Amino acid sequence: MSTARSTIHFSDLNLNADILAGLDRCGYKIPTPIQTASIPVILAGKDIAASAQTGTGKTASFVLPILNRLALKKTGRGPNVLILSPTRELANQITAAIEKYGRHMNLAVASITGGVPYPKQIQQLSRRVDIVVATPGRLMDHMERKRLDLSNVDVLILDEADRMLDMGFIDDARHIAKATPATRQTLLFSATLDKSLMRRVEDLLQKDYVRVDLSEAIMAPARISQELYLTDNAGHKMRLLMHFLQNQSIARAIIFSATKRQADELADELCSQGLAASSLHGDMKQNMRTRTVEQLRRGRIQLLVATDVAARGIDISDISHVFNYDLPRVPEDYIHRIGRTGRAGREGTAISFASRRDTAQIRNIERVMKQPIARKSIEGLEPSSRPESGNAPQRKRFGGGGGG
Ligand code: AMP
Repeated sequence: MSTARSTIHFSDLNLNADILAGLDRCGYKIPTPIQTASIPVILAGKDIAASAQTGTGKTASFVLPILNRLALKKTGRGPNVLILSPTRELANQITAAIEKYGRHMNLAVASITGGVPYPKQIQQLSRRVDIVVATPGRLMDHMERKRLDLSNVDVLILDEADRMLDMGFIDDARHIAKATPATRQTLLFSATLDKSLMRRVEDLLQKDYVRVDLSEAIMAPARISQELYLTDNAGHKMRLLMHFLQNQSIARAIIFSATKRQADELADELCSQGLAASSLHGDMKQNMRTRTVEQLRRGRIQLLVATDVAARGIDISDISHVFNYDLPRVPEDYIHRIGRTGRAGREGTAISFASRRDTAQIRNIERVMKQPIARKSIEGLEPSSRPESGNAPQRKRFGGGGGG
């Protein structure tokens, strides 16, 4: 008798044959840890609070069981499933995942997000709809105008709930939840399940909800190599960025900047250096944002200079590098940012720039990540100021053998 634990396959998870066929076509055979942990719980009809970041297969963790449920029981009077997302990009991503996995299921999915014209949404809501994927603001707009009846919702999903809290949407989400039946199944996904979040959302869950906390294990995916470079000033930071862009093999990269204006300026600067770069931020019209992400996906641009909100939900599997040109203000955003790379089992590199004034912020990030980030420097581009005590930088020599 073997004591080795055998690998779980999707076919072991009691999913409907159409869904298994859809997964097979995607080439997915083995569920990721968050999928293995949450799919059986959701299939059993339990509420769940799961900690999972993007890039870990989180979307399929809730999309597959809800598709399974709809395959077994569709009332015809929908929507039966309501998914709330903090951003439009993430909502589009979820809608795309539903369409991908449920291709053979004849599902009516309505994507109700801000920044897009109302008429198409009004039309979608006037017909049969099984699943609504929405950002809270626009959904409430339609609710107030009585274009949507949520009394047949069997499953409510709050995706990236921590982000909803940060962005001030949690009260809207609670208001929306109240319009759905109290007997519904509620699924909560969030990068972190800390106390401040759970205090605000725990009452939306049934008392016997199951907590799936894989954050310790997946906080810092081993396949993402993380490096931190201390910088003296803006010029030094730019020289370092150019060094990486010119010396590393970069398939596609996202460069995070603190402000919309800086995102534009940095993208312009990179373009003037002959690089295929574009900015992405919340001041851009939605169709422009969608087009820019598509250009990155297609390889028409190689570098996307983005703010946190705009980059949320981008799922492009071959982003080789994430640069934190500026550190995120909210430490948890660091996880979201670096999770843009190292997706779908690929390797990724996350390079952060920080000045000596950022010492406290670096500590906060390391505390959230539960691990230190390696300090590095590039020969010829070292910071002139002395680095933080106890964190002597490892020197990286290109073409040489290791640190000095
Ligand atoms: P997510 O965390 O939902 O944003 O998913 C990250 C990426 O992993 C997406 O491109 C998914 O299509 C892909 N993915 C999800 N589940 C699996 C799986 N079991 N095997 C391989 N790739 C997957």
